[in-house]
Amino acid sequence: MVARCGRDTLEGDVLRGIAVVMMAAGCLTAASVRGKLATGEKPVLKTASGEAVRLFGDKATMKVLHDKRLRDADFEVAGRFRASGEFEVGPIHEKSMFVHKGGKKLLISYWCEVCSIRTYEPGQCMCCQEETELDLKETIDP
Ligand SMILES: [Zn+2]
Repeated sequence: MVARCGRDTLEGDVLRGIAVVMMAAGCLTAASVRGKLATGEKPVLKTASGEAVRLFGDKATMKVLHDKRLRDADFEVAGRFRASGEFEVGPIHEKSMFVHKGGKKLLISYWCEVCSIRTYEPGQCMCCQEETELDLKETIDP
């Protein structure tokens, strides 16, 4: 839903027009922020304009934001701003975090080479208990 924001036009019949307006209203709170990720106790994105935006999210999202391997990455998050100016990252299953690298926008995942198991949060492999590898990919096959 967030990804479609802004792409819809007001063309079409009246009913569709109303639906689009309602969607557009919903889009006002949807946002994304890009900057340099400062991992640590309190994850922060440092934007190009010098702002420091505190990041929050669900448990898995927070684990990714704490991942030292992503420190100083050119990072982008999708979600919404809280009234306080802090940023709420979208749920982990909506794949709301990206790393920009070599002109590409990459999804963040974790891979166990031994078991060929992919996860979306850092930690031990659910199968062999080995530490999973950070794996940045343009697309992820289901
Ligand atoms: Zn494994």
